[in-house]
Amino acid sequence: MIVVMKSDATEKDIENVVNKLKEVGLEAHISKGKYRTVIGVIGDEELIANLPLAIYPGVEKVMPVLKPYKLVSREFQEEDSFYEIRGSKIGAGYFGLMAGPCSVETVEQTISTAKFVKKCGANFLRGGAYKPRTSPYSFQGLGKEGLKILAQAREETGLPIVTEVMDVRDVELVSNYADVLQIGARNMQNFLLLTEVGRQEKPVMIKRGFSNTVEEWLMAAEYVAKAGNKKIILCERGIRTFETSTRNTLDISSIPVVKGLSHLPVIADPSHASGRSDLILPLSLAAVAAGADGLLIEVHPNPKEALCDGPQSLNFEKFEELALQIKEILPRFSKKIQ
Ligand code: PEP
Ligand code: MN
Repeated sequence: MIVVMKSDATEKDIENVVNKLKEVGLEAHISKGKYRTVIGVIGDEELIANLPLAIYPGVEKVMPVLKPYKLVSREFQEEDSFYEIRGSKIGAGYFGLMAGPCSVETVEQTISTAKFVKKCGANFLRGGAYKPRTSPYSFQGLGKEGLKILAQAREETGLPIVTEVMDVRDVELVSNYADVLQIGARNMQNFLLLTEVGRQEKPVMIKRGFSNTVEEWLMAAEYVAKAGNKKIILCERGIRTFETSTRNTLDISSIPVVKGLSHLPVIADPSHASGRSDLILPLSLAAVAAGADGLLIEVHPNPKEALCDGPQSLNFEKFEELALQIKEILPRFSKKIQ
């Protein structure tokens, strides 16, 4: 249920409603929009239905949210969400160009990549310290050492860091280094992990599970929001289909679909979607045209030598070309990088 307050409702009116909800054991989540405040009510539906909220001072209307996700829905918040993360902006017309290696390998590899992508216009550095690998014999990431290298790269470039946390036990440690906590596709329905990152201050980026529907993806975001963290970014990274010419299939339609259903920023990851460096540029352009609020691109100084995901990584020259083309078309879609 959502309680829509009148545009002239006072702080006292809002407080009144919130106090009443809390008194009967319901959760109140406030969303302050440009013109009005909306209070999301979470809890026992019957309890909610029996409260005479509509007659409270300052209340315009009380509406049910029919979708299973509430806090992340457009009904709860009409305007696009926007976050400023260490000076880099994403959402509501601001484009997040996130780039960097699949995994942090060495200081030199990470810092040279960070400097280069920044020079090209990227406003976030991505890099994995904890890697979810299909084979237990593959490189698993440098762990804490990798986080330290990322922090060093941030120090040198000013770029905020996006990095994956795979395990509830690592959430505190990763939060101490990361600026955005990435939840990987394989963990999209790890509800304990979602709840734990939901208790953190740092924004969370949730990658879509490759076998998950849009609704399941939004429910994952709802877990994070319900735990208290409303700073969520969604990342479409391709789904499993019968097609074998690409690693996964970038579900381009999910971008406008999710943007219609939710106020959260949605970005695209053509690297993991396609698994092929030659497809990154066309898929990136398509994602921007579909309304994406950002891109996640894997970049490596020497993709042939990469310890992880080399075939889908762009070298510096190819990334420069991509960044140029993206920056060129962004104004056409009323977006800018800052
Ligand atoms: C990644 O971003 O490095 C990654 C492992 O992605 P995904 O979880 O989408 O496979
Ligand atoms: Mn990767």
